[in-house]
Amino acid sequence: MSDITVVGSGASAVHFALSVLEKGYAVTMLDVGYPPEEAVNPRDTLNGLKENLVDPVDYFLGKKFESLILPDAGKEYYGFPPSKNYVFRAPGLLRERSEGFAPLFSFARGGLAEAWTGGAYAYNDAELADFPFGYDDLEPFYSRVAGRIGMLGARDDLERFHPWHANLQPPLEFDEHSALLYAAYERKRERLQKKHSCFMGRSRLAVLSRDMDGRQACDYSGRCLWGCPSDSLYVPSLTLKACLGFPRFTYIPGMLVSHFTYGADDRVATVTAWDLEKGRPQDFPVKKLVLAAGTLCTARIFLASIQRRTGQSMELSGLMDNRQVLIPFINLKLAGKPFKAETYQYHQLAMGIETDDPRHFVHGQITTLKTGLLHPIIESVPLDLKTSLFLSRNLHAALGVANINFHDDRRPGNRVAIAGAPDPLRAELRIRYAPPPGEKKRLQGLISRVKAILLQLGAAVPPGMLHVRPMGASVHYAGTIPMNRGKKSLTATANCRSHDFDNLYFVDGTCFPFLPAKNLTFTLMANAARVAEREF
Ligand SMILES: Cc1cc2nc3c(=O)[nH]c(=O)nc-3n(C[C@H](O)[C@H](O)[C@H](O)COP(=O)(O)OP(=O)(O)OC[C@H]3O[C@@H](n4cnc5c(N)ncnc54)[C@H](O)[C@@H]3O)c2cc1C
Ligand code: SF4
Repeated sequence: MSDITVVGSGASAVHFALSVLEKGYAVTMLDVGYPPEEAVNPRDTLNGLKENLVDPVDYFLGKKFESLILPDAGKEYYGFPPSKNYVFRAPGLLRERSEGFAPLFSFARGGLAEAWTGGAYAYNDAELADFPFGYDDLEPFYSRVAGRIGMLGARDDLERFHPWHANLQPPLEFDEHSALLYAAYERKRERLQKKHSCFMGRSRLAVLSRDMDGRQACDYSGRCLWGCPSDSLYVPSLTLKACLGFPRFTYIPGMLVSHFTYGADDRVATVTAWDLEKGRPQDFPVKKLVLAAGTLCTARIFLASIQRRTGQSMELSGLMDNRQVLIPFINLKLAGKPFKAETYQYHQLAMGIETDDPRHFVHGQITTLKTGLLHPIIESVPLDLKTSLFLSRNLHAALGVANINFHDDRRPGNRVAIAGAPDPLRAELRIRYAPPPGEKKRLQGLISRVKAILLQLGAAVPPGMLHVRPMGASVHYAGTIPMNRGKKSLTATANCRSHDFDNLYFVDGTCFPFLPAKNLTFTLMANAARVAEREF
């Protein structure tokens, strides 16, 4: 029996596992773990793929054209390409029903962050106020994780929101549009800061600008959305590979964990997984169990285990996610100009807007449009198709999207529960979420402010194209069993150990007591490394 059994291989799980392996522990990792396909033609740029692949349509749009987004005003701006299908593949067994929430799950080797956009921002002391530790306690782990994953950033105006830590590489070269927007910010800095409390700088990204550990610096191939062929853009399966180099590490994919069992002493005794290949359950005895299946899947395993033993249908409250608003814009200085496909594709610029409370700072990421598929944007232009096509061809290089993120609090009505069959595999996960009172008004105020900021940067927001993403879409789930200084049921210690089961830990977003506006994955990884260091 291993010293520690971990469920999941996502960003949280792999950084926990690597940290305890480095300390000499024996670790078993149980995971569904759908694998990716090999990268095709790794030396080709995006345009090279279009020329050299035997069937580029199949690669870019899918056998059934599944990555096309058909006309539907409520839909997202881009679909996931076929090469990322494995990230969102789900075992057919699981059932889920949601109200006010559109959850996304991953059962991939590496989890959801196999398809992420690499935004990696440390929480500051104000944002950590509800956590039982501050930035000084977390900083060594931010620095350690930054050194592992390879991250870049610059010392600029955003440092007032995103604390500086070690192991940041210099930024990439700006694409032409991002450079133009940043130059405008530098010219208008004083006015933007004074009038709009707006500060801008380089996105902090989990991307290499220098070679590291056998991975290559970004060569601007333009393939980010389809999967980086040179491992310059970090994904958790790279850390899983590092774990596999330890002789005391056992990785068992194909295992869908349904529940754990425990005795009268409230200690976890075994974990049960459904072997997806053999179609039967398998029990694994455990010494210490670490759930890192992503906040929602961890909640399912926890609740199903209690329901199976006690017959009690419990629920966890306090589910959080970041509301995101997408604000497309046009930079008229680039109208009619050609766009360059050989650039880094995701956001390179970030924006922070101060509010009255530093915990409620608003976080924006600005993506300029390069090779992203244009049709969802064309479809939402409020003109006829011919005019929209003409405009889109001529405005391609001028288009961009500001992705504005808002903080979230734990509120009792936002719940995750298990219902239905007592068989843990057949029970239904039920999610209920309602936004905070007054959200609409708060969003409207900030959207107007962002539009005014973009105008100062030389970019206009066309009418009718703004998209308030449904809750769940940001995939920043947290808060169901929060860290708590006192010993209280359905909470955890400062080191993410369950107050209900002595040898049970949660190292994903489950234990976050507050969700700042900024993307959480870097903090998930740093916190997982902190728990490994402080508790094991
Ligand atoms: C398109 C996209 C862009 C994103 N961009 C960013 C970004 O720029 N910055 C950022 O910070 N975050 C971003 N995110 C969010 C980020 O991906 C998640 O925060 C992160 O992946 C969560 O990691 P996790 O390890 O906690 O859980 P997950 O990634 O959900 O991993 C869960 C793991 O558990 C396994 N698992 C689940 N249930 C079971 C079970 N019952 N039995 C066995 N194994 C199980 C799965 O196989 C998987 O390995 C993005 C997400 C998406 C989808
Ligand atoms: S990060 Fe993107 S642009 Fe850079 S090498 Fe990878 S796929 Fe190419």
